[in-house]
Amino acid sequence: MAEITSDVSKAVNHLRNGDLIGFPTETVYGLAANGLNPDAVVKIFKVKNRPSFDPLIIHTYSLTEVEKYAKKIPKKALQLAEVFWPGPLTLVLDKNQLIPDLVTSGLDTVAMRIPIHSMALKLLQQLDFPLAAPSANSFGYVSPTTADHVNANLGDRISLILDGGSCDIGLESTIVRVDGDNVVIFRLGGKT
Ligand code: AMP
Ligand code: MG
Repeated sequence: MAEITSDVSKAVNHLRNGDLIGFPTETVYGLAANGLNPDAVVKIFKVKNRPSFDPLIIHTYSLTEVEKYAKKIPKKALQLAEVFWPGPLTLVLDKNQLIPDLVTSGLDTVAMRIPIHSMALKLLQQLDFPLAAPSANSFGYVSPTTADHVNANLGDRISLILDGGSCDIGLESTIVRVDGDNVVIFRLGGKT
């Protein structure tokens, strides 16, 4: 079983070593890897049994960080970011070459989000890379909302889970893309 802890520095060390961790967000618990390191990201697909054609969401802590990985963010997307970040909104943006193709399943867009959970933000602020993170469950299983749920499903495959209590929302983020004047909703989720 994995070590369950609230010590963020332990998670930082694992992530710097290219290992996966479980961590809390306001939507569900995530299974995180260094989003700039393909050798780390590939472990997410293996551990979850997730098909490689299903792209991952990149998590970070500020709009300045998002701008390091996205090209020309449309004005309307910036307006959405201003209102809904940090929080359960994911924006699909044109990506630059810093984001590995593995993260986006070869797409030239990347899904990005700034979570509002205080432990998630604390973790992200201590890293010099963003986190690729889907929900911390095997492909096809229910998304976990507590550290114990993560441990029950993936505890034999990861060594550390950050415990930030139970998730407020318990539903995945809403995913949108700004296309010209239109906002296209790819997934309805925790932001209505
Ligand atoms: P999750 O499994 O909750 O982490 O959500 C990831 C989902 O985000 C994927 O299954 C896609 O539906 C969506 N997604 C991720 N990246 C993109 C992208 N570049 N364009 C469109 N949808 C994306
Ligand atoms: Mg999921």
